[in-house]
Amino acid sequence: MAQRERRPQPTHIHVRGARVHNLKNIDVDIPLGELVGIAGVSGSGKSSLALGTLYAEGSRRYLDALSTYTRRRISQSARATVDEVRHVPAALALRQRPGIPGVHSTFGTSTELLNYLRLVFSRLGSHRCPHCGAHAAPSMAVALMQPITCPSCGREFFGPGAEDLAFNSAGACPTCGGTGIVRTVDEASLVPDESLSIDEGAVAPWNTLMWDLMKQVAREMGVRTDVPFCELTPQERDIVFHGPAEKKHILYHAKKGDNFAELDFTYFNAVYTVENALAKAKDEKGLARVAKFLREDVCPDCGGTRLSAAARGPVIDGMTLGDATRMTLDELAAWAPGVPALMPEELQPMAQAIVAEMAEPICRLQQLGLGYLSLDRASSTLSTGERQRVQLARAVRNRTNGVLYVLDEPSIGLHPSNVEGLLGVVDDLLDDGNSVVLVDHDVRVLRHADHLIEIGPGSGADGGSIIAQGTVKEVESSPATRIGPFLSGARSVRVRERAAASDMFVHGAVRLETGAIHTVRPLAVEIPRGRLTAVTGVSGSGKTTLVLESLIPGLRAAIAGEQLPAHVRAVEAEGLRRANLIDATPIGANVRSTVATYSGVLDDLRRAYAKLPEAKERGLKAGAFSYNTGSLRCPTCDGTGQISLDVQFLPDVDIPCPDCGGSRYGSAAAEVRLAGDISLPELLSYTVDQARDALAETGLRSAKAKLAVLSDLGLGYLTLGEATPALSGGEAQRLKLASELTRSQEDALFVFDEPTIGLHPLDVEVLLGVLQRLIDNGATVVVIEHDLDMIANADWVIDMGPGGGAAGGRVVAAGTPEELAACPESITGRYVAEELH
Ligand code: ADP
Ligand code: ADP
Ligand code: ZN
Ligand code: ZN
Repeated sequence: MAQRERRPQPTHIHVRGARVHNLKNIDVDIPLGELVGIAGVSGSGKSSLALGTLYAEGSRRYLDALSTYTRRRISQSARATVDEVRHVPAALALRQRPGIPGVHSTFGTSTELLNYLRLVFSRLGSHRCPHCGAHAAPSMAVALMQPITCPSCGREFFGPGAEDLAFNSAGACPTCGGTGIVRTVDEASLVPDESLSIDEGAVAPWNTLMWDLMKQVAREMGVRTDVPFCELTPQERDIVFHGPAEKKHILYHAKKGDNFAELDFTYFNAVYTVENALAKAKDEKGLARVAKFLREDVCPDCGGTRLSAAARGPVIDGMTLGDATRMTLDELAAWAPGVPALMPEELQPMAQAIVAEMAEPICRLQQLGLGYLSLDRASSTLSTGERQRVQLARAVRNRTNGVLYVLDEPSIGLHPSNVEGLLGVVDDLLDDGNSVVLVDHDVRVLRHADHLIEIGPGSGADGGSIIAQGTVKEVESSPATRIGPFLSGARSVRVRERAAASDMFVHGAVRLETGAIHTVRPLAVEIPRGRLTAVTGVSGSGKTTLVLESLIPGLRAAIAGEQLPAHVRAVEAEGLRRANLIDATPIGANVRSTVATYSGVLDDLRRAYAKLPEAKERGLKAGAFSYNTGSLRCPTCDGTGQISLDVQFLPDVDIPCPDCGGSRYGSAAAEVRLAGDISLPELLSYTVDQARDALAETGLRSAKAKLAVLSDLGLGYLTLGEATPALSGGEAQRLKLASELTRSQEDALFVFDEPTIGLHPLDVEVLLGVLQRLIDNGATVVVIEHDLDMIANADWVIDMGPGGGAAGGRVVAAGTPEELAACPESITGRYVAEELH
C-alpha cells in the first residue's frame, strides 16, 4: 500500500479581514502552540480580536462539529464579521467576569479537590458502626467497600462510599439541604418600633404579609391593640409572637359602605405569618418581601459542614470530612502527605496514590496565590479574580491538547508576588500542546509572551489596527508601539505631584476601628483626608474586608446617624457627607441607557432642539425628542434601536432595527436640525469629541461642559448613542464619575476597587488624572490596588498582610510609598521598591 503523504501541520491561525466592532479589516497570523499577548489601550479592540473573533470562531467550529443542526442555528447568530479564519482550534475562554456560582458550589467542589477528600475519607477513614457507634479501623475491606465487622458489637455494616459523602447528593444534611445555612424568623425584626400600638401597625409582618383583620383577631385573642407595644404584658407578647392557631369569630367591616360580615378567622401569630409566607413564596419578589424578617444562621445540625450525620461518620487523624474541609489549602497541603503513615501497611500504597493525585492540583492553586482559601468557602463569596484562577487551574488539570485558551486579564486581583505562579500555570497549558491568547495590561505578564500583538493606536474608531507585532524585543523597538517603552522600562507612569509626608494629614483624617471579622484582626486605621490612599496586600490579606465591609458601611452608617455594623467599633470622619463606591459594574440593565442619557447631555440637547423654529412650527416640545418616550422615537423598535428575532431553541437574537437603522428615531426627527444642519439622531451617532467640535460655535454651554468632562475622563471616543451596558468595566467606572468632576468634593470619600482592571499604562495615566481632579476638588480617594504604577502614585499606602487568610489580616505598614518600600516585612514593599528604584 502506498504511504499516505501527510500535509505539514498548520503553524498559525490565519485571520483575514476581521471587522468585528472597531477592527479595521485586519489580517493577522497568530502562532499556534505559543503564548500570544494582545496589548493596546482600553477600547482599542483587544477583546474584539481575542474574544469577538478568535474565540467566537473557535467555539463556533467546535459546536459545528457537534451537529449540522446546531451549526445552522448558531452560525446565524454568532458568526464573527471576518472574511476568513483558518486553522483555529476548538477554543475555550476564561472570562474577566465569570458567572455567579450556585449555592452548592464551594472552593472544594469547583477545584474538584473535594472529590479526592471524599475518596480519602470513604476508603481510608475509620467508619462508624451504625448499630453501636464504635469505630472500625481502616482496613482493606473498608477500602474495597466490603462489609465491615464492628470490633465492638460484632455486627456487619457497610461504610458510606464517596458518593454518600457528597453534600450535593446523598450526603446532604437533611436540615439545610446541603447548604450549611438555615433561615429562621428573626424575632427582633417583627416589631421594629415598639412605641406603636398594634392598631397603628406595630407588628410588621401582619401589615405586609397578612390581611389587616389580623389585628382584630389578635384583640379576640386577648391582646390589647390600642396601647404602645412596649406596654404589653409578657403574656400578650407571647400571644403575638407564638400564640396558638385558634379560630376566632370576628365582625368584619368591609372597606366601602357600612356592611358588616361575621366570619371565623384563624389566628396567625407573627412568627407563623412569616413562615407561612416563606413557604408560599413563589418568586424572587415574594421572597424579597419575606427576607427582611429572616435571619441566616449556620445550620445547627451539621454545623455548617453541609454534611449528613452519616457523611460525618468516617474519621481520619481525629477529623471528619467536615473538619478537613475547614482547613485552608495550605493546611491541607501540609496535612495530606502525612495520611499514608497513619494507615495500616496494606493500605499505604493506595493512600500514597490518592495523596499523590491531590498534590498537583493543590500545588497549582497555591502557585496561583489561593492557598489561603478553605475548601468549604462558598464560591459565591470569592472575588472574580479568584474565580477565574480556579477556572484556570481546572483547565490545566483537564490536560487538554490542541485547544486555544483565550484568557481575559487573568492578572485581575493578583498581587505582584503571584504573577510568577500565574505564568507557570500558563506555561503548563502550553507544554501540554495548547495555544494561549491572553489579553492583559500588566507589563510583567506581557513580557512573558512569545509573540505580542499591539492594537491601536487609540480607542474606538481611533483604534482597531495592528500597530506592532512580533517578539517582545521586536515590539519594543517598533516605531509605532505605545506599550513598548513601558515593556522595556524606559517609561513609567508618574503623573501626579504626591503630597509630602509632613503635609499628609493637614486636612485631617478618617479614622476607623474594627473588631475581628473573617480572618481579619481588630484594626485601627487612619486615612488622610484630601489624599490618594492605596490599600494593598496579597490576595486574601483583608483589603476587601477593610474597605468594602468596614470603611464604606461604617461611614455610611455614621453619616446617616445609624447604628454601626456589628464589627465596626468606631468611625471618625467629621464633615464627611458622602461615601461613594465607584465600581466597574455595568451601567443600566438595558439598551435604553446610553452615554447621552447617563451623562445628562441628552437632556440639554432635547431642550436645544425644542427651541428651534422648526420644532416650534411642528409643536415639538423637549419631551418629543426623547427616544424612550417621545413622539419622534422609532415606532418599529420603540426607540431601542434594535429588534429581537425569535430563533427557535436559542436565546433571542438582537439585530439593528431595520427601519431606523439603530438610530432610535423615526424619519420626522430628521426635519429638525441644529448647528450647521445636524439632526438629533445624527448627533447621537457622533463620538463625544466629534460632538464637541460640532457644537463648538453654539451657545449650548451646559451640553458643551458635560462633553468636555467626558473627554477629560478619556471617553472622547465613545459615541453619544452607545448603550452603556456594552461599555467595558473601566469605561463604566469613569462614566460614573462624569457628574462628580465639576463639584466640590470636600465632603466626599470615593472608593475604587481595582480601577486599573483593563487599563493600559496610558489609560492608567488618564485615570490618575481623573482622580487628581477629584482630589483637587477636595475629595478623599481610596483605591484597592495591585497595580504598581497606581501604588507608586499614591500619597499614602495601607499594606495589609503579610500573607493571605490566617497569615494576614493585619496592617503591615502604613506610610508613603517610600516608607513602604523600606519596610522589610511588607511583601508589597519589595515590589514597590523595584518600581521606585
Ligand atoms: P478592548 O478590549 O481593547 O478594551 P474592545 O474590543 O472591547 O476593546 O472594544 C473595541 C471597540 O469596540 C470599542 O470602541 C467598544 O466600545 C466597541 N465595542 C465593544 N463591544 C461592542 C459591542 N458589543 N457592540 C458594539 N461595539 C462594541
Ligand atoms: P483581599 O481583599 O485582600 O483579597 P478579603 O478581605 O477578601 O481579602 O479576605 C480576607 C480574609 O477573609 C480571607 O481569608 C478570606 O478568605 C476571608 N473572607 C472574605 N470574605 C469572606 C466571607 N464572605 N466568608 C468567609 N470568609 C471570608
Ligand atoms: Zn445542615
Ligand atoms: Zn427603530
